[in-house]
Amino acid sequence: METFRSVVGHKRVISYLQESVRGGHVSHAYLLDGPDGVGKRLVAKIFAATLLCTEGGTEPCGSCLSCRQVDSGNQPDITWVTHEKSIITVGEIRQQLCNVVQVKPMAGPYRIFIVDEAERMNAEAQNALLKTLEEPPSYAVILLLTNNAESLLPTIRSRSVLLQMLPAPEDELVEWLMDREKLPDYRARLAAAYAGGSPGQALACARSEEFQKQRDAAVSMMKAVPTMREDRMSQLAKDFAGAKDGQETLLGLLLVWLRDVLAYKAIGPKARLMFAEDADSVAFHAEGLSYEDIMKLSGDIGTIRANRAVNVNMETAFWLYLLGMQNCFKDGK
Ligand SMILES: [Zn+2]
Repeated sequence: METFRSVVGHKRVISYLQESVRGGHVSHAYLLDGPDGVGKRLVAKIFAATLLCTEGGTEPCGSCLSCRQVDSGNQPDITWVTHEKSIITVGEIRQQLCNVVQVKPMAGPYRIFIVDEAERMNAEAQNALLKTLEEPPSYAVILLLTNNAESLLPTIRSRSVLLQMLPAPEDELVEWLMDREKLPDYRARLAAAYAGGSPGQALACARSEEFQKQRDAAVSMMKAVPTMREDRMSQLAKDFAGAKDGQETLLGLLLVWLRDVLAYKAIGPKARLMFAEDADSVAFHAEGLSYEDIMKLSGDIGTIRANRAVNVNMETAFWLYLLGMQNCFKDGK
């Protein structure tokens, strides 16, 4: 089973949690705040497993009955509060938490409630939860996981121990991916860079065939851009507009590509590239684009993202982007 030792990053949060277990001063509420994919669910699960492990250590032992139940997702003293729609309603909080918190644990010393996406609780739900937080039974431990602690009532925040979950340092993430997935370093570096320090996302990318396909597509597009014919450019723009699910991935990959181009331009072949397999093409772009071009093209990705959110015509936006990039190469000549 997963243990604290196997988690990438979060050293301070983990040692804090382990210290509170060791010292016997576990709080009634914790607020795990950090971006999506950073590892909140994983840390919450391991902490819950540790609290209920009959070996009583600062890691789950992995073999006692409780640990095995955690692993198979049916530890009766752990409740993952679920919700049906995009908000967590007061009914859901009452039914799964407030109304049952008075029921003593089945076996262990704690009864643990985990509210994932806690920022989705509406005001009523938060108020109901607050009542429980004001007078929790001695055995209750409530873990609130959120990507935006500010969206919770100040009174909820003040009654919880705030644990800030920061993205893992990129180097640490690369090593972890290489070790865990047996990936070559350039593939691990691309997944880590793309995921911006989120182990969950990096792992998903590293394993995803679709991500590899998108990566190859992004590279062949970048290779072709300098001399791309107009009909091909129009077709790519049309494909981009039509592939809603793939847009964000492609834009993210282009941003990493430009980061490589910038690094190559600055320090040449010594640069550690995410697109190391295509170093020749990266070098070609570094040659053809000025620093200003690279900064502008990177910034324009942000603009396309913003425009996506407000439903601007993506076919035109992407076509203009490719054309703009091509013109940078022509201007340089
Ligand atoms: Zn155990």
